[in-house]
Amino acid sequence: MTKKTPEIVVAKSAGFCPGVKHAIEKVIALEASGKKPVYTLGPLIHNRQVTQMLERKQIVAIDTLTQAENKKGVLVIRAHGITPDFQREIENYGMELVDATCPLVKHAQNIIAKFAVQDYHTVIVGDAQHAEVIGLMGYTQGRVNVVSSLKEAQALPHFDKVNVVSQTTQPEAVFYEIAEEVKKHADQCQISNTICQPTKDRQKETIEQAQSADFVIVVGGKHSANTARLAQLCQGLCKHVQHVETDEELDERLVVESPKIFITAGASTPSWVIEGVVFRVKTLRDRATAKL
Ligand code: SF4
Repeated sequence: MTKKTPEIVVAKSAGFCPGVKHAIEKVIALEASGKKPVYTLGPLIHNRQVTQMLERKQIVAIDTLTQAENKKGVLVIRAHGITPDFQREIENYGMELVDATCPLVKHAQNIIAKFAVQDYHTVIVGDAQHAEVIGLMGYTQGRVNVVSSLKEAQALPHFDKVNVVSQTTQPEAVFYEIAEEVKKHADQCQISNTICQPTKDRQKETIEQAQSADFVIVVGGKHSANTARLAQLCQGLCKHVQHVETDEELDERLVVESPKIFITAGASTPSWVIEGVVFRVKTLRDRATAKL
């Protein structure tokens, strides 16, 4: 058997997607311009290290408008977007508002709205509890089902007209499998693949690289849905997969013993955390080689 050359591949698509990067840059610029405090409606992203960094700069996540004391400061809508009703409510609240909704989430909202006014029922493939999906539901004119599995799609009723869309970060294979099932439940079915291009690129690269790796390290917040989904995708492709939040959690034995390591990260993972993991992986391997 030929021995594999030790190799560490870091995904080109690892880390902040353009929507998250834009939202973070926006709040940091607001804070730097003196508009304090800066409030975000919900955590800007699901990453503890970034949230702590933002809190140090007085950029604070709130759940309700009343938490913004005396209506001072500026309120930021995060990349996930919100419902049009909530947007109207905060516009009338009397605080300065900055909309950092990702243009690719806006695109999904617009597609839903376009078909909803033509009496289409909407089926969203995604996680009903996720902030982006809650926002998308607001564009459906109240006619919506959210499904996350084929089994849930099989239980759907019959529709005259249905528009199937996706949460922007869903796996494409899951989306099309569910969309094909929804088709069987409708006289007219519109399939709108609203998975964003950065997610498609990340999934494509992950599938290509994880298959030939001996160990995949997925870096990102334990509460980040897109990181967890990435790790799940890798589970089916590689024997050893570890989801770590920081370099401290690395499985040192696998780092040292695996010939090819593929390192990837979710859309909400900052570059400095990824770099920390890469540095530790290299250090552990160099140390092991030096001992030989
Ligand atoms: S995952 Fe895609 S849609 Fe969501 S914020 Fe990032 S770029 Fe925008």
